[in-house]
Amino acid sequence: MIGPEIKELIQMFAKLPGLGPRSGRRAALHLIKHKESLMKPMLQSLTTAADKIVTCSQCGNLDTQSPCGLCNDPRRDTSIICVIEDVADLWALERTASFKGQYHIIGGTLSALDGIGPEDLRISSLIQRAQNPEVQEVILALSATVDGQTTAHYIADALSHANVQITALANGVPIGGELDYLDDGTISTALNARSIIDKAS
Ligand code: ZN
Repeated sequence: MIGPEIKELIQMFAKLPGLGPRSGRRAALHLIKHKESLMKPMLQSLTTAADKIVTCSQCGNLDTQSPCGLCNDPRRDTSIICVIEDVADLWALERTASFKGQYHIIGGTLSALDGIGPEDLRISSLIQRAQNPEVQEVILALSATVDGQTTAHYIADALSHANVQITALANGVPIGGELDYLDDGTISTALNARSIIDKAS
């Protein structure tokens, strides 16, 4: 009943996070019905994004340039690096406008279950960045999940020889909480009330 072209479109949408076959059908149908006002502009946006967006070689952010706009911004404090899991966390922190330092996106968390080891994350480049005498503090803003905290301890350990203060987000981040899902006020509070991690522990 449904032609192969439309079927393919539905299958593409169904692959997106939060969508399934049902939402995929609705999205595809909506686009087809709004070809001029939505489908063609979206096609243009997708083409531009696919052609121009790159991963920042320094922090792992997504931008049209590398180093990215944040790394290149002279108003950002280069003495503080905030370590996060994903670009979505960077967006969440930037929404709060409470952090003026730089970022380092590691690309996930260590996970024995999923077979993700330190070499699969951008940890060695973080250690390299932390060696820069300009860097004084590294904030570990990772999820309050078991994997997030395991990763935080691993990084704190790996940075023990770097001459930096290591801090972590404090109260405010609920157990099991992922940054991207928190409201802006909670993120700001957790950032401002961060605590020093005892490297020896
Ligand atoms: Zn960057």
